[in-house]
Amino acid sequence: MLRFISFGSGSSGNCYYFQAGQTRILIDAGVSYTQLRKFFQSFGLQMRTLNAVLVTHDHADHIKSVGKLAAECGLNIYATELVHEGISRNYCVTPKLTSEKRVFISKDESFNIGDFKITSFHVPHDSTDCVGYRIEVDDIRFCLITDIGHVTERVQEEVREANYLILESNHDREMLMKGPYPAFLKGRIAGENGHLSNTEAGELLANYASPNLHHVWLCHLSEENNHPVLAQKTIDGILRSYGIIPGKDFKIEVLKRRNPSRVYDLRADGVVDPTLPFED
Ligand SMILES: [Zn+2]
Ligand SMILES: [Zn+2]
Repeated sequence: MLRFISFGSGSSGNCYYFQAGQTRILIDAGVSYTQLRKFFQSFGLQMRTLNAVLVTHDHADHIKSVGKLAAECGLNIYATELVHEGISRNYCVTPKLTSEKRVFISKDESFNIGDFKITSFHVPHDSTDCVGYRIEVDDIRFCLITDIGHVTERVQEEVREANYLILESNHDREMLMKGPYPAFLKGRIAGENGHLSNTEAGELLANYASPNLHHVWLCHLSEENNHPVLAQKTIDGILRSYGIIPGKDFKIEVLKRRNPSRVYDLRADGVVDPTLPFED
């Protein structure tokens, strides 16, 4: 069984918790260390029991607290070499990571952390480098795809294979284009290396979701250029036009921006009610 909690999603900070048995990891640590500590306490979790932090890319909303997590909790920070270079240049990361806390990963080369088999893969984004992650445990394939300017063949493949998926649904294109952002920023967000729109996320799901996909969490919604109800409605509409029934074929939820989600316990055949304590 795989346990999942989101501790924050969006430009104010991204952080996702995964646990299977005694293996506990975070993907991204863009929520402040103080806030993260509060969230852990509220779930009866302890930060010192974490095994590692995996990083998608070196934008502040994904790395803010990696320095503290390494220094205070002794955690290793996993990222590609380029992302690590970006982290060491980023002023928001204090203290700096020492060399023994840096673990370099290579895209498409699987590695194990405890019970997890983890694979990173390239996604197009305007950071130093950017990856999506696939976690495999107990016949479950959980995939995280965020901060992605456009859909690649590799991303289509990952969606096709996933049982569970965190997928970026950043903006509504019309809201973005009619909104208050300056032209260069609109161009950046909508561009090939920016962020995925609601429509792009919906088309990706409609074309590549398999019958083995059980649950999708929409992430990284823009505060200015999107709305949770609009994202859900847009994607529901696209899916229905392809004959897919949201909630029946698979469930879709929007992750909260500044607050944790509930605890999700996941099996290969679907979400189950959380019963086990964290320290089993
Ligand atoms: Zn980013
Ligand atoms: Zn981001």
